[in-house]
Amino acid sequence: MTETPHVLGIIGYPLAHTYSPAIHNAMCKRLGLPYVYLPFIVAPRHLPNLLTCMRLTDVEGLNVTTPHKTRVVALLPSLDAEARAIGAVNTIALTRRGYRGYNTDAAGIAAALKRFTGETFRGRRVLLLGAGGAARAAAFAAARERAASILVVNRTAAHAKRLSADLGRRFRRTAIFTMPLRTAGLRRACTDVDTIIQATNAPAGTLLPLAWKKFPRDAIGIELRYGPAPTAFERSAMEHGLVRVDGVTILTLQAAASFRIWTGRSMDVPFALRIARKVSRTVAARV
Ligand code: NAP
Repeated sequence: MTETPHVLGIIGYPLAHTYSPAIHNAMCKRLGLPYVYLPFIVAPRHLPNLLTCMRLTDVEGLNVTTPHKTRVVALLPSLDAEARAIGAVNTIALTRRGYRGYNTDAAGIAAALKRFTGETFRGRRVLLLGAGGAARAAAFAAARERAASILVVNRTAAHAKRLSADLGRRFRRTAIFTMPLRTAGLRRACTDVDTIIQATNAPAGTLLPLAWKKFPRDAIGIELRYGPAPTAFERSAMEHGLVRVDGVTILTLQAAASFRIWTGRSMDVPFALRIARKVSRTVAARV
């Protein structure tokens, strides 16, 4: 008799673009693990019922994506220290004491930077676009590795200020500033940074108001968003010679950390990256 699979999945709204099911299912098959990973489209109004639904349907683990990462925090009975500090959860796991929230985005971002450049955030002057769940993880990763400064730029000023205050309480060695997204000051600030992180949901093709020519030659552009084609941010980064860290690599490295939490096993990262890039090509051929 075949073993009933353990159920994992991802919640988000919308969820059309996720590569996570392909990565996790391929990895479980490769390792012979009895798990199935499914996409669940969960509208924000249904989020308060999440844990009840997970219990009723025997879901053992979930990834959490936009727009739920920060809102799900208050629902969870238990949080890992990193998720609590970041204030955002991207991974939920069933433990002996019930569901527990984790954040593997920060580890994924730091690991992707290291993989592309061999460097950490130490001493870097970071311009962070966004103040949502992904941006919070990026800021935490940068400050934990002792970035020299982080300038948080966001559409809603109050969200940037809240992130800045949270970081300031925890990290004393990194200077934290905020600025609204559409101001002349932002173009001027581009001369003072060397690492630009794009962590907004601004619609695909949106050109963010950056003075690309003012970035230093060895600046690093980190794009959290991923899809079948390079984003406007990535196209500009390539055009202006920035070192590029892409969202598919970050996705794969955070997936490896979530996979370890759920299964106790290590992902074969080169294999998982090949799967993610294959999905990207398949989606690109369809659109
Ligand atoms: P989120 O919590 O909903 O935050 C969204 C952010 O985007 C907020 O800062 C929001 O600003 C901003 N924003 C939304 N619409 C905008 C617009 N039209 N113009 C300018 N800013 C806008 O989402 P998230 O979870 O942080 O995810 C953000 C992106 O990162 C998503 O595309 C997600 O897929 C990607 N991501 C990728 C990975 C990966 O592994 N590669 C991991 C995490 C996230 P306000 O504060 O003003 O609302």
